[in-house]
Amino acid sequence: MAQVVRDIRATAQHHSKRFESAIPLIASENLLSPYAKELLISDLHSRYAEGLPGERYYEGNEDVDHIENVCLDLARRLFRCSFADVRPISGTVANLAVLKGLAEPFELVGTSRLADGAHISSASFGAFGLRSVKPVYYAWDEERMTIDVPRTKEILRAVRPKLCLFGLSLFLFPMPIDELRPTLEEIGARGWYDGAHVLGLIGGGQFQDPLREGCQVLSSSTHKTLPGPQHGILLGEGLEPDGAKRLASGAFPGVTSNHHLHTMAALAVSLAEHLEFGREYARQTVANAKALAQALNERGFDVLAEPLGFTQSHTIAVRVTNEGGGEAVARALADAGIISNKNLLPGDASPKHPQGIRLGSPEVTRVGMKEREMGRIADLFDGLLHKGRSSDEIRTEAAQLKAGFTTLQYCFGAGEAAYRYYDLVGRDPS
Ligand SMILES: *Cc1c(COP(=O)(O)O)cnc(C)c1O
Repeated sequence: MAQVVRDIRATAQHHSKRFESAIPLIASENLLSPYAKELLISDLHSRYAEGLPGERYYEGNEDVDHIENVCLDLARRLFRCSFADVRPISGTVANLAVLKGLAEPFELVGTSRLADGAHISSASFGAFGLRSVKPVYYAWDEERMTIDVPRTKEILRAVRPKLCLFGLSLFLFPMPIDELRPTLEEIGARGWYDGAHVLGLIGGGQFQDPLREGCQVLSSSTHKTLPGPQHGILLGEGLEPDGAKRLASGAFPGVTSNHHLHTMAALAVSLAEHLEFGREYARQTVANAKALAQALNERGFDVLAEPLGFTQSHTIAVRVTNEGGGEAVARALADAGIISNKNLLPGDASPKHPQGIRLGSPEVTRVGMKEREMGRIADLFDGLLHKGRSSDEIRTEAAQLKAGFTTLQYCFGAGEAAYRYYDLVGRDPS
C-alpha cells in the first residue's frame, strides 16, 4: 500500500512541475495565495459545523463561528451587499441553492443556451434538470456576443418567467441587465446573476455590478477570476426577508450539510486579499486578455468580436476552423505546453466538434505577466499553428518564458513560489 502513497505523491509532484513550466490559459483556473493555501491542511478540514454561526448543531464550533463571521463580513464589504452565505461548496452547488430556494419544480427560468456560452448548470442534464425547472432561452446577438435585448424583451413578455439567470462560462462582455431591468420589473421576475467566471473582476470594480443593475441574487464559484479556494458563495441585495430566508435554507439544509470549513477559512483570506489587491489584479487581468486577443488577431487568428475590441473580461474566444478545429488545436497546444480548452461557439453545427478554443488571462496575470508577455504567447501560437514549428520547440520556448514567472503576485506573501508541491511531511511511507 505504501507504494500507492508514493505513486500519488509523485504524480501530484509531476502535475505541479508540468503546470510550473506551462502557459496556463484556462479561463476558469487560478492560483491560491500561500496564506489561503496553508489553511487547507489545518484542523478545520476535520470538522463539522452545520447551520450558521451561533446556531450550530455540534459543539466545538466557536472558532469556526468567528472565521465564518469574518468571511461573511468581508464578502459583504467587497461586494457591497447586505446578504452573504458562504456555505455552498462550489459554484454549481450555489446555483442549486438558488434553484432550491427561489424556484419551484416545473417553473420557467430564463437563461442562455449552452452554445451561447451558458454553464451546464442551465442544462436539462445539469442543475436545471435536477430541480426540474424549464429553461426559457434569451435571444443571442452573435456579433456582439451578448444577449439580443429587443428580441429577449419580447420573449420575456410572452413567457413571463419569475426568475431570470444571467451569467456565462464564455463570458466576454457584460450582460445587458440594466436594459432588461424594466422588463423584469414589468413581469415581476427576480434577476439572478451567476458570476462564477467574473467574480474577481466585479470585486475589483472592472466589470459590471449586477447587484446594482437589477439582480437581487449573485451565485458564484470563488476560484476563477477571484483567486480563492475551490468553494462557492451566495450574495444578495434588495431581497425581501422571506427571500433571504429561502435562499439561506436552499444552501443549508437544501444542498449542503457541512460546508468545508478549511476552504471557507481560505476564502476569508482570499476576500481580504482581494479588498487590498483586487482592483489592480482585475485591471491587469482584463488588460492582458485584450492584449492577447489583439496579438493573436495580428497574427492571423480569428478572434471573436473584433469590432467590439474582442473582450471586456478575462476571456477571449478564437474560431480555429482553419487551424483544424477546437479539439485538435487544444490538443496540439497542450502537447506544446500551452493549456487551454476546446469550446462551443455560437453557430457550431455539432456540439461534439466545437470550432473554438477559449483562452483566459487569470493565471498568467496572477504570476505577473503583462501585455508584453501576451505578445510572446501569441508568437508561440503562431509558430505552432501557422508556421509549422514543432511542439518540442514550442514547449521549450513556453517553459523558458514561464521560467521568469513562477511566483504569486497580488496577495499577502507575494513573491512566493506559485506551483511548488508542498511536501509537508517529508517522510517515506514505508
Ligand atoms: C464554473 C461555473 C460554474 C460552476 O462552478 P463550480 O465551482 O465548478 O461548481 C457555475 N456557473 C458558471 C457560469 C461557471 O462558469
